[in-house]
Amino acid sequence: MNESAPTRVALVTGASRGIGKAIAQRLAADGRKVVLAARSEGALNEVADEIRSAGGEASVATLDVSDADVLASGIEGIIETEGRLDIIVNNAGITRDNLALRMSDEDFMEVLRVNLLSAFVVCRTAARSMMRNKFGRIVNIASTSGVVGNAGQANYAAAKAGLIGMTKSLARELGGKAITANAIAPGFIETDMTASLGDDIKSRIMESMALRRLGQPEDIAAAVAYVSSDGAGFLTGQTICVDGGLTMC
Ligand code: NAP
Repeated sequence: MNESAPTRVALVTGASRGIGKAIAQRLAADGRKVVLAARSEGALNEVADEIRSAGGEASVATLDVSDADVLASGIEGIIETEGRLDIIVNNAGITRDNLALRMSDEDFMEVLRVNLLSAFVVCRTAARSMMRNKFGRIVNIASTSGVVGNAGQANYAAAKAGLIGMTKSLARELGGKAITANAIAPGFIETDMTASLGDDIKSRIMESMALRRLGQPEDIAAAVAYVSSDGAGFLTGQTICVDGGLTMC
């Protein structure tokens, strides 16, 4: 970070485990003050304690991102407490996989609410503060499913493709205020979300990847660290697939 820049405050949703936890740990290690959000207060406090033990700064915001009104007032509360919000990482996400012919409207809409509407609400609420500070880094965690599609994930792919389109629109709307917006599209990353996939499916995925290994949460955190850095001020509207060469999109 540039010497004269203030300590950047970063919000990471879905920071209680998996990719969000790794992102929060990495941003804190890079000197950001990190606000960790998710529903599981106990897990969030553990992550915050780990960050503090490693010498970083962290606070916890217990939030259910599926409730837009609660989420918006939660973000406003964070901005009031911290005095600023420089980096937002919309990472909270769920899957409700099923073949399209069997997928209920409820499962379709729930995935859109948690994975897409929540990110929009966070961006809209935080943008005002970022515009005032003439600095902002919006990072939306999409998925290669949103780029190339995936059988059994019509709802999830729609949400992630929506996130990518929204990111490009925000990049165009907010670029004049030095706010960047980028999407990171992970491929297959070893977390709770992918833990139930059988070894045969994992082997098949690995065979189609250039790097022949499954991704780790830290692989995604490294990409987020770059796009959210002060030095990435000329990168916006991009979707970076961090997928071990699975799609090369
Ligand atoms: P994960 O291990 O299942 O973690 C999901 C996170 O989202 C948890 O921290 C969870 O916290 C939070 N969350 C879920 N629903 C929430 C809600 N209603 N309100 C607040 N927080 C909520 O998943 P992951 O693999 O780390 O995935 C993180 C992101 O990467 C997701 O957006 C996912 O779509 C994306 N991604 C993952 C992969 C992969 O292979 N793993 C690939 C592509 C994209 P609580 O349960 O404590 O609320």
